[in-house]
Formats: sequence, structure tokens, C-alpha cells
Amino acid sequence: MSDNKYDCIIIGAGPAGLGAGLYAARDRQKTLLLEKFYPGGQINTTDRIENYPGFENISGPDLVIKLTAQVKHFGGEIKTSAEVKKLNRRDDGLIEVSTSKETFIGKVVILTPGSSYRPLGVPGEEEFRQAGTGVSYCGTCDAPFYKDKIVVAVGGGNTAVEDTLHLAKFAKKVYMVHRRQEFRATPVLVDELMELVNKPDSNLELKLDSVVTSIEGEGKVQKAVLKNVKTEAAEEISCDGVFIFVGMIPNTDFLDGFVGLTGSGFIQCDTAYLRTKTPGVFVAGDCRVGAAMQLVTAVADGINAAIWMKHYLRDPNWWNEPLSDSLSPAEW
Ligand SMILES: Cc1cc2nc3c(=O)[nH]c(=O)nc-3n(C[C@H](O)[C@H](O)[C@H](O)COP(=O)(O)OP(=O)(O)OC[C@H]3O[C@@H](n4cnc5c(N)ncnc54)[C@H](O)[C@@H]3O)c2cc1C
Repeated sequence: MSDNKYDCIIIGAGPAGLGAGLYAARDRQKTLLLEKFYPGGQINTTDRIENYPGFENISGPDLVIKLTAQVKHFGGEIKTSAEVKKLNRRDDGLIEVSTSKETFIGKVVILTPGSSYRPLGVPGEEEFRQAGTGVSYCGTCDAPFYKDKIVVAVGGGNTAVEDTLHLAKFAKKVYMVHRRQEFRATPVLVDELMELVNKPDSNLELKLDSVVTSIEGEGKVQKAVLKNVKTEAAEEISCDGVFIFVGMIPNTDFLDGFVGLTGSGFIQCDTAYLRTKTPGVFVAGDCRVGAAMQLVTAVADGINAAIWMKHYLRDPNWWNEPLSDSLSPAEW
């Protein structure tokens, strides 16, 4: 195989990419990971992970060092500062993957470029997010760190409601800030939310028609400043943390028609085999439709894609095989 030709090219060396890289490389496939910055992805920015099986508590960078070493141990090649700009299918069925400097050729491509949390864009957000001192975007990840504390949660969609309910299991008090009266979340979730809000001595209080205008504190979050969008009245809430649940932005702009995307930019796939609409191109992790947006599920996705890719390498016609379990839940 020539130098720039690989069995498997993985785009993004976050948890999904590293999971895929480990399985592909250990399976003796010639494997290349192309990473825009340096390995690790989002998890690099947290110093406390408590929900990755096998580790009671590990920092993101420490876990990334272990994952990266494991991929390299089995012969996976990782190129950093290698942002993929373009993909192209050749006449012979192979796929060209280009950065601004080089082009690589793969039999299979696994897309793992992840997503970024949508920021609120208010003063204080970036400062406290960077330092990990009170701004978070993931209730499932960080709620246990706010046991018996006061937090502000922002948003009105499904994730906002679900994660706020999760936060309320830990925090002493949760203020949920939403810019409208009505929630976008599904009615069943809103019912659950309102049930908790209306309980006597509830620890959850709604701040509707309101937005957060700044997050403030000395060295850590100490308060959130709110504005009522109808009355313009300002209000300060003393708190230990602000959770921002206003959506995710998938890093999929560069795919530009090569695979199917949802309206909000997530990569369309069948969620069993992680096949995209483009033969030989799999997807894994936070960039795909229906992702659970967790470290362990991203790693597992990558592993699944690397396992299913062997079917395609053996027989490209496998791509069009229907799902074996395509019955609806009611038919099981
Ligand atoms: C602060 C923080 C704390 C978190 N804590 C937890 C936690 O405790 N537990 C938990 O389960 N989850 C946690 N998460 C969520 C978890 O980090 C993500 O679910 C997980 O990282 C998703 O992995 P991924 O590989 O799909 O995407 P990402 O981690 O986003 O990785 C994608 C990688 O692809 C690269 N990339 C993007 N575009 C290109 C391109 N065009 N070319 C080449 N490379 C590209 C990016 O640079 C990045 O390295 C946390 C997230 C954050 C931000």
C-alpha cells in the first residue's frame, strides 16, 4: 500500500476517533487519524471525569494520554494540526481526504469531528468556562459536583429540561431561566418539570421571559444577572454555577454535501451500523444524529464503526443491506 493510502481514515481524534482508531489499528488495518488541533477533543477541557467506566475520577487530559498511547501502541498513526477541508469519491471507489497541505486516500472513512456547545455569548461565560470554575454545558457530566449548591440553568428545549431535572436531584436550589413562557421540550418532559416546580418546598424555580445577561464572580461564579425581556427589569441571582443548555453546533461544515446532514447540521446515519448515505463513510460520536453526547458513548460509537467497517471492506454491497432489526418497538 502506498504511503498515503490507508484502510481507514478517521477525521477527528476526540474520544470517538480514538475509540475507532484503537479498534481499527488493533485489527491490523492501516489506520490514520487526522486531527485539527491535538488529540482528545472536548474532554481535554475538563479536569474531573467520574463517569468513564474503570476510573472513579480521572482528568480529561490524563484519559486522553492513555487513549492516545493505546492507539499508537497498535500502530495507529495520528497527524495533528491536520484539519480536513474536503472529501472526494474517486472513480475507483476510494475516498480522498484533503487537508490544506496533503491528500490521503482511504478505503473507509470514519467521521468523528464532534460538536461544540452553543455559547450564550454573555460576559463572564468564557472566563469561567475556561477555568472550569462554574460554567458548564453538561448536566449529566457535572451535576454531581453541585451537590447542595445553588445553580442557574438556561434553556428551554429537551436537553435543558432533562438536564435541569437531573441538576435538581443534586443542587440545593435550581433557577431555570428561559426566554419565553412556553418550553420547546416535549410535553411529557414539561409535565415532569412542572410537577417538580409545583411541589411544596420545591428546589426548582422558573424564571420565564428572562435571559442571563452576565455571569460574575471573583475567581469563581458567584452570581448570574438576569433581565426580564418583557419588563426589562434586572435581577441578580447568587449562585455557584451556571449551566447553559442552548444547543450544540456540529463541526460538519467541511462535509458540504458529501454526506447527508440534518437541518441543524448533524450527520444522518442508521444508528445501528453508523453508515452514512455515502458508501464507505461511517460516522461516530457527538456529530451524528441521535448522539448521547457522552464520552463513553462517543468512544463506543467509534468502536462500533470500526467493527462494522470490516463488513464493508469484505463486501461493499453490505452498505445497502437493510438493518436486520428494522422492526418497530411495537412489533418486537
Ligand atoms: C468541559 C466538558 C466536560 C465534559 N465532561 C464530560 C464528562 O464528565 N463525562 C462525559 O461522559 N462527557 C463529558 N463531556 C462530553 C464529552 O467530552 C463529549 O461527549 C465527547 O468528547 C464527544 O467525543 P467526540 O469524539 O464525538 O467529539 P469531540 O470530543 O468534539 O472531538 C472531535 C475532534 O475532532 C476534531 N475535528 C473537528 N473538525 C475537524 C476537521 N475538519 N478535521 C480534523 N479534525 C477535526 C476536533 O478538533 C476534536 O478534537 C464533556 C464535555 C466538555 C466540553
